[in-house]
Amino acid sequence: LRDLVESGSLKESHMLLMTGTAKLKVPEGSGNVVLLKNLFLSCNPSMGVRMRNMKVGNSALFFKPGLPISGYGVARVLDSGSPNFKKGDLVWGLTTWEEYSLIIAPGTLFKIEHDDIPLSYYAGILGMPGLTAYVGFFEICSPKKGETVFISAASGAVGQLVGQFAKLLGCYVVGTAGTKEKVNLLKSKFGFDEAFIYKDEPDLDAAIKRCFPEGIDIYLDNVGGRMLDAVLLNMKIRGRIAACGMISQYNLDQPEGVHNLMKIIQKRIRIEGFLTTDHFHLYPKFLELVLPQIREGNIHYLEDITNGLESGPGALVRLFSGRNIGKQVVAVAHE
Ligand code: NDP
Repeated sequence: LRDLVESGSLKESHMLLMTGTAKLKVPEGSGNVVLLKNLFLSCNPSMGVRMRNMKVGNSALFFKPGLPISGYGVARVLDSGSPNFKKGDLVWGLTTWEEYSLIIAPGTLFKIEHDDIPLSYYAGILGMPGLTAYVGFFEICSPKKGETVFISAASGAVGQLVGQFAKLLGCYVVGTAGTKEKVNLLKSKFGFDEAFIYKDEPDLDAAIKRCFPEGIDIYLDNVGGRMLDAVLLNMKIRGRIAACGMISQYNLDQPEGVHNLMKIIQKRIRIEGFLTTDHFHLYPKFLELVLPQIREGNIHYLEDITNGLESGPGALVRLFSGRNIGKQVVAVAHE
């Protein structure tokens, strides 16, 4: 919004107009812009990194002090200067943490075509985290029926879906989480074969060996650090690791060392990092797979929703202490 004002294409008077509830419109002449009413905001661990680094770098990725933070969310289009969206459309994609957002060049907004599913799901399983699970598991790890799959932060937004994809494919699936409640959910709600509380395991190598006496084919890494180190000791020959996230490292001044890298050579392990933003073209393919499974009740999704924009900061930090149980979402407004 400030960029629009500074470039002269939006006048302060327009902004005042927009803050009134009666006339919520995209100011004339502002071009390819949509005005959104935000409904749900998604709390993503990467937002912690973007916040932590905001004073050290000028990357567009980092938050700017004094401006609303950006992230994925679900919204209703109130007005549109874009040929791709019209008033009344429901969308998910990149928005800002405000009640109303003006989105310039809305290339990362996607129209919601199926509204028989809870709208909040488009902040999670049907949005960016869901696509992350799909890309990380199917595209990066090339899974096969009967393989052994290990998932860290398994009860979260990404992990719970990877586990269910793996079970649907006929894999043996083990996950980790930080509490007994989450571990129980992994087994009872999401159908994992085994799960353990990583915080209760002083020897992660031994805990993994207990669950994978023959070794791991696929590791979906959401945490990095000492878990990754222990996993490297337990991978099978030609195992695959999707480096999805490293939340255990995001708040450290000095990242922990990983000591077992030699295993990558000895066991011919393939480790591949990925960014979901490179794979948005796969979204239709992902929807085709996941929507029927949700509708038929074969895939479940657990959300942890707080109410009101003011609950946002608290909701976001819950991710880093593991207090979220399922996908952390902030409900900003009802339609
Ligand atoms: P989650 O919903 O899983 O929430 C984060 C969870 O991480 C917490 O609930 C907590 O669960 C666990 N956690 C927090 N701190 C630590 C720690 N120090 N050590 C181990 N576990 C910890 O988040 P998401 O599913 O949204 O994201 C999972 C991962 O995927 C993140 O690393 C994220 O950055 C990454 N990601 C990557 C993307 C990409 O494009 N590559 C896109 C989206 C997400 P617990 O109870 O298990 O401790």
